[in-house]
Amino acid sequence: MAALIDTLRARIAESGPLPVSTYMAAANAAYYAKGTAFGAAGDFITAPDISQTFGEMIGLWCAATWAAMGAPYPVLLVECGPGRGTLMQDLLRATAGIEGFNAAVRVHLVEQSPALRASQAYALSEIEPHWHDTLSTVPPGPMLLVANEFLDALPIRQYERTAQGWRERAITVDSAGALSFTAIDSGPAPVPIPLAAGADLGAVFEHCETAHEAVRAAAQRVCAHGGAALFIDYGHKASALGETLQAVRRHGYHSVLSDPGEADLTAHVDFAALAATARSRGARVHGPIEQGLWLRALGILMRLATLARGKPAAVGRDVHAGVRRLIEPDAMGALFKVMAVSHPSLATLDGFAQAGDNDHR
Ligand code: SAH
Repeated sequence: MAALIDTLRARIAESGPLPVSTYMAAANAAYYAKGTAFGAAGDFITAPDISQTFGEMIGLWCAATWAAMGAPYPVLLVECGPGRGTLMQDLLRATAGIEGFNAAVRVHLVEQSPALRASQAYALSEIEPHWHDTLSTVPPGPMLLVANEFLDALPIRQYERTAQGWRERAITVDSAGALSFTAIDSGPAPVPIPLAAGADLGAVFEHCETAHEAVRAAAQRVCAHGGAALFIDYGHKASALGETLQAVRRHGYHSVLSDPGEADLTAHVDFAALAATARSRGARVHGPIEQGLWLRALGILMRLATLARGKPAAVGRDVHAGVRRLIEPDAMGALFKVMAVSHPSLATLDGFAQAGDNDHR
């Protein structure tokens, strides 16, 4: 099979520069298809691998939200981008003691990578998950949806303020045969007017249409059939200018263009823009709030105390270190945000209510 970089060069030679989104989608599809991204031996570590308490807290949140929905039977439990299935494993273990919940859930996983589907099947061999390429084939019904570090992997477009106005960033091949950035005129740029007004030359605006599609679809479903969708990711509460596209390989930053398909490409999530999309479909939005505040409000420190009790000192230290990494502002606690999108009848949701950040419209 031709290396992805050769395929991309051929596409550019044939039909001209590729928008960043086309490049990012092709690179990430190839990257996740390998299934070797996660953990100490892979390229990056995510919250479920840092501490089992992460998935457990999300499980308790799901069970509390289910109770607030009137405990429907059955209920869809959907995860978008489940990685190796660790979060879902921890979630279902935490809810095993909650009467009726595990019997009611029907697990659906949205995952495009065949290799990761195989890891998920292995991790979740005791249940019978159903897999989907996108949310559109998940059957209708009351739903709980969780997505951790899913939206950041979806393809973004980039727009740059040039002397000629806003131009879309695209990828071409330079005289040495390497991939390089260029700018193309692809029509009006979707830059919000207040941001466009203050933009300096060289300013970059990023827009992720696929993330909007995912949030729009989740909002429509919860409004039609009941439930809530929980999105956790790194990103900003207010829309902003700035370039956040990055490549991560072997736990360090890597050049975005040098090895397509060999590094994880991500961009920060614009939660304000996604919240507006959810509201435009009639959903209620909870948050976004900092991950650390949300996890504390859900009682992660109590869970930590239980988990560390009676353990050998070294194990106890690891358990503490994992939780600290999730909640401390100088680690993941502030950069990561949590936002839920729900049926409008769900006025308050666990974690958001205690942190004083529900949507009182
Ligand atoms: N939630 C996991 C994995 C995050 S990595 C964790 O927290 O560890 C991103 C996940 O989203 C991977 O499972 C990847 O294969 C999946 N993914 C990326 N782009 C996707 C797309 N367009 N459609 C479906 N899944 C996608």
